[in-house]
Amino acid sequence: MEEDPIELVKQTQIYKNCTNIVVGKGNTSADIMFIGEAPGKNEDEQGLPFVGKAGKNLDDMLAKVGLSLNEVYIANILKCRPPENRNPLPEEIKAHTPWLIKQIKEIKPKVICSLGNYATKFFFADGEVDKMDEQPGITSVHGKVREINFRGLKIKLIPLFHPAAIIYKRDLLPLWEKDMEIVKREISQTTL
Ligand code: URA
Repeated sequence: MEEDPIELVKQTQIYKNCTNIVVGKGNTSADIMFIGEAPGKNEDEQGLPFVGKAGKNLDDMLAKVGLSLNEVYIANILKCRPPENRNPLPEEIKAHTPWLIKQIKEIKPKVICSLGNYATKFFFADGEVDKMDEQPGITSVHGKVREINFRGLKIKLIPLFHPAAIIYKRDLLPLWEKDMEIVKREISQTTL
């Protein structure tokens, strides 16, 4: 029998060190999901994804493309904050993504916006964590819509820069703005 995804998360060291598990926020019947990397300090404290600085950029983006929190669901690859916000480890991704996959199967989104390298590579690798390293980076694939079949669900994947990246790499801003137009176009073309 497969192990309970929540138990798998609870067996990891980052769970033992975190304040709160960050499950997600938004509407569990939404047609669009946004998937980031991992909770940061603010998210860990509040138990909610994208509530810090990066969250402000994500909120601005949602407003720009005309979406409210009630029309989307937001989650992360990892459910717990890695110490000092270090990069997720393959073993952590393996232990935490069965819960994310369970959420995706329940929500059945038509569109997934993957935010940054980790989420994008996870879907490009079809959830096979050991194949994530072989996948192209976000710089070459951002804004390029890809139809994927993920665990039996037909999904439009829209890879986007991570909302935190545009805080410290201001030259990404025009590209980010352009990608917003793509998101807007795709959601208007998808029967939501
Ligand atoms: N960065 C992420 O990837 N996720 C969050 O929830 C917050 C910041």
